Amino acid sequence: MAFVYLNSRLIPVEAALVPVFDRGFAYGDGIFETLKIKDGRPVFFGEHFERLKHGMEVAGFKARIDPEGLKNQSESLAAANEVRDGRLRLQLTRGTPPEPGGPDPSPGLAPTLLVTAEQFASYPDGGYRKGISCRTVPAGRGRYASVKSSSLLTTILARQEARMAGAEEAILTTGHGRMLEGSISNVFFQVGRLLITAPESAGILPGIVREKIIDIAAGLDIRVEYQALKPDDLDLTKAGAYLTSSVLGICPVKEIDGQRLKRDNATFEQLTKRLARLEAESINSA
Ligand code: PLP
Repeated sequence: MAFVYLNSRLIPVEAALVPVFDRGFAYGDGIFETLKIKDGRPVFFGEHFERLKHGMEVAGFKARIDPEGLKNQSESLAAANEVRDGRLRLQLTRGTPPEPGGPDPSPGLAPTLLVTAEQFASYPDGGYRKGISCRTVPAGRGRYASVKSSSLLTTILARQEARMAGAEEAILTTGHGRMLEGSISNVFFQVGRLLITAPESAGILPGIVREKIIDIAAGLDIRVEYQALKPDDLDLTKAGAYLTSSVLGICPVKEIDGQRLKRDNATFEQLTKRLARLEAESINSA
């Protein structure tokens, strides 16, 4: 990565410095968005911008960000870094107080905005064909789960726990074992022509791709129900599951806690194709 945009200035990455008192560094007091870059353009930019705005409102960040300007920055950064297919990160912190202060934010700080764009070859092809193995970890993201917060220690540790148990992704659960979402993804279960995903009210990030899959399902006559299930609520040998995220797209789950899941390749292909179509429409529409 040669360049970044820091506070709306395109600068070489070595020159991009954020002060040590910045609240993003001190407290993880920030929000972010990760987008896919396709053909040098950010996918579903409008949807990600809306979620960023939601995070700013909940967190009380006082930035005025022009969506067109930010989209232009994103595209010129992708060009400067020669990224055709990759990943874009929009990161906003509450800003830098003059003194370290305590956890209570002082009013009127100017937020710090960092944009990065890097080449990312998605996940190895095999992951899509073989599916991803998951491990449940009792560690929900809590009351403010709808905010894509930079305070990621919970999900990083949950993911490490899953990895140490030999799985590739953690499925975060409530204390009662109800499955909410992945550490960096949303989860759908499939039983016949029914998809089941946890409701937003259970404490999940309302994923951009989760929304797209819900819309796609309607067009394919697949019903969607909103429930945070326990693994025991389903006969996993008869159910399938998928993970979704902006960078991952949609990917089948191979197993959960060592229990193998069913595969429905035809439905997976349909969902994948339609999602790719929506991605293409999104970059060609503006
Ligand atoms: N849930 C969590 C906790 C995430 O971190 C992510 C993405 O990083 C998702 C869900 C998927 O969201 P999206 O489809 O908007 O990428």
